[in-house]
Amino acid sequence: MEVFETKQALSKILSEYAREDKTIGFVPTMGALHEGHLSLIRCSKEQDDITVVSIFVNPTQFNHQADYEKYPRLLDEDLQILEKEGCNIVFTPSEKEMYPEEDIRVFDFGELDKVMEGYHRPGHFNGVAQIVSKFFETIEPHRVYFGDKDFQQLVIIRKLVEKMNMTTEIVPCPIMRENNGLAMSSRNKRLSKEERDNAAMISQVLFKVQKIATKYTVEEVKEMVVEELNKNPYIDVEYFEIVNEENLKPIEDWSDTYHKRACIAAWVGYIRLIDNVKFYF
Ligand code: AMP
Repeated sequence: MEVFETKQALSKILSEYAREDKTIGFVPTMGALHEGHLSLIRCSKEQDDITVVSIFVNPTQFNHQADYEKYPRLLDEDLQILEKEGCNIVFTPSEKEMYPEEDIRVFDFGELDKVMEGYHRPGHFNGVAQIVSKFFETIEPHRVYFGDKDFQQLVIIRKLVEKMNMTTEIVPCPIMRENNGLAMSSRNKRLSKEERDNAAMISQVLFKVQKIATKYTVEEVKEMVVEELNKNPYIDVEYFEIVNEENLKPIEDWSDTYHKRACIAAWVGYIRLIDNVKFYF
C-alpha cells in the first residue's frame, strides 16, 4: 500500500497505472473508518484493478467549527485498517494542498441542494462538491463508491459528474448498520453508551414505517415519525422527509413515484445523525 500527500505524486503513479490499462476505483472518506467505509472499499476491490482511498476531513463541508475540530481523526489506525483490507493507494492531503487560495469553486445544483441537508446545512454540498471535483480531476477514477447512507450527497454527486462531463461510474453501496440498527457513522464514536442505545430508535422507527406506510397518508406518516421519535428525551428530530429519489422533491401521495425514500436528520445530544430507508411499493 502506498500513501501520497500531494496531488502531483498521486497523479503520477495513477497515470502509470492508466498506461497499463488498469481500472481505478475511488472511495472518498473523512477517515475514522468503520464497516460502512470498508464495504465500499471491498466493493471497489471486487471490481477495479487499483483501489484508491482518500482520507481528508474537508473543512468546507462543515457548518460549525466545533464539529470540524471534534471530528474524529485516527490516521494511524485507519492506515492499518486499509493495509489489512488490501487497499492499494491512500491519499492523505493537507488542507493547503486541496485548497490553494486561488481555487475556490461555486456550484449550482438547482433545487437538489435546497432541501433536507442542503436547507439545514447551507453551503455543505458546495463544500462536498469542491473537494470531490478536485479529487476527480486528480484521480480520474473509472468508478467511485458512495454510501446510500448519505443519499442526498449521492444524488448531488451524480449531478456533479454530469456537470463535469465525466464518464466515471457512480456505484451506490447499501447502508451498513450496528446490530441494533443504528446506521454506522464516524460521528457515532462521539456518542455515550446511553445515546448510542437510544439513537438506535431512529432506524427502528424507519424500518417500522417501511412496513406500515401504505396504511396512512404521507402527511400522517411524517407526523407520526416526528412525534414518536421526539418522545424519546435523547432524540430531537431536525427533519423527516419522504422524497422522490430522482429530484429529491417531497412527495405528497404514495402514488407520486415508485422511487421514493424517507430521509431523516436528528440530534442525539450534541451529535447530528442522518439515516434513510427506501420504499418498495
Ligand atoms: P464519510 O467518511 O462520512 O465522509 O463517508 C465516506 C463514504 O462512506 C460516503 O460515501 C458515505 O456515504 C459512506 N458511508 C458512511 N457511513 C456508511 C454506512 N453506514 N454504510 C455505508 N456507507 C457509509
